[in-house]
Amino acid sequence: MAYEKEISDYIESHKEEMLNDLMDMIRINSEKGEEKPGMPYGEGPYKAIQSASKLLEGYGFKITNYDNRVITADSFDLPNQLDILAHLDVVPAGDDWTVTEPYNPVIKEGLLYGRGSCDDKGPAIAAVYAVRAVKELGIPLKQGVRLILGSDEECGSSDVEYYYSKEKAAPMTITPDASWPLINIEKGGIHNEFTVSFEKTDMTPSVVSVKGGIKINVVPGKATAVVKGLKEKDVRDITNKFEEETGLKFVFAEDGDNLNITAIGVNAHASLPHMGKNAVQGIVTLLSKFPLADAPVNNYIKALNNIFPYGDYNGRTMGVDLKDDVSGETTVSFDILEVSETHFMGAFDCRASIVANDENTGKVMEAKIREQGFKIEEKAMFEPHIVDGDSPLVKTLLGCYEKGFGVTGAKPIAIGGGTYVHHVENGVAFGCEVPEVDNHMHGADEFMEVDMIIKSAKIFADAIVELCG
Ligand SMILES: [Zn+2]
Repeated sequence: MAYEKEISDYIESHKEEMLNDLMDMIRINSEKGEEKPGMPYGEGPYKAIQSASKLLEGYGFKITNYDNRVITADSFDLPNQLDILAHLDVVPAGDDWTVTEPYNPVIKEGLLYGRGSCDDKGPAIAAVYAVRAVKELGIPLKQGVRLILGSDEECGSSDVEYYYSKEKAAPMTITPDASWPLINIEKGGIHNEFTVSFEKTDMTPSVVSVKGGIKINVVPGKATAVVKGLKEKDVRDITNKFEEETGLKFVFAEDGDNLNITAIGVNAHASLPHMGKNAVQGIVTLLSKFPLADAPVNNYIKALNNIFPYGDYNGRTMGVDLKDDVSGETTVSFDILEVSETHFMGAFDCRASIVANDENTGKVMEAKIREQGFKIEEKAMFEPHIVDGDSPLVKTLLGCYEKGFGVTGAKPIAIGGGTYVHHVENGVAFGCEVPEVDNHMHGADEFMEVDMIIKSAKIFADAIVELCG
């Protein structure tokens, strides 16, 4: 309720300054680099931390620098009630930018383009202006708010691990590094790999190699295989039928006695496997339909298909497809495979419903994988992150979101991925993406809408007043 008009006027009248600060920040290439003395994440993140320090000091914040990993900015001599956690590092620029160069920000038709505009420099600057607004308007607070700016979120969040080894989290934390309205549940899960070695075979037709996948948390969009002793005409009918059923594409090239096969699917984040088409699982299921010789390598391909067949996104085949009303269903994606004539290595990514645990999920998968003859080490599942959807923190923030967006009935979200607050007690992700807009996060032409920067700053200021006032 209170101070909405003052906050809105403040943010609107500081719009130019805010966008300039953001563009200055984007001009710093803060991709992780080689460690140097005093620069734990390399030169780029160091420069971003230094420049943010100077900026915030200029606005009258009290800065503490945690060894150039994290800085904090305090502005009220009050016990700390709320931490706002954002990050200044970025992922590599990559190719194919068309609107501008990645580190030369421009505003075009209401969109501010540049690497980090949306992830996470835009939201970070919006949070800075939210605190500035409350401070400079002299809105009375009973409790304090702290800005925490990190510089290693994209490469494992060792920055906040370091910070929280020295400081306690505030009773409440928000991170504007994900989506509106609010994420209060992040699933737990398990990443694991399994292997087997075997005798080389002289029998044909036989698999010579299979390769696919780059990262455990990415559903692979491409996989390749070489099969000896088969011609395209031997398997074209089976393949056509499988292509029709799945929407995958398979390209064949004959090379002497070998048949080279490329599977083309669709990449996706491993927490959303149904959004992609898993080319590795696809090529495995297709190979297991081929008339291959009774040799170890071929039998292991079939064994793999017994547990990770194409189209199974939930570990249904292994019997771990649990779900609940709050967090949704378990997802399982088989994302990396390397098979040679004598060795096999595979790896999977599981994001588990909050009713899942080691007994009903982790150990069940391990047992099923061992049953098929593979070697797998025991591994404990990682814990989910849960903040009660009925807590005052969540209720209050959803109220601020509803006011800011002019909507009603907002509900918190559960996701399979992890955010910056995965290990922070009573931490939720709050802003700034919306499902209708693809901000090209981590891709070329990343942007944030100028209106969203403004709106976010107002909502954060409102949230500070509501939670700390
Ligand atoms: Zn981020």
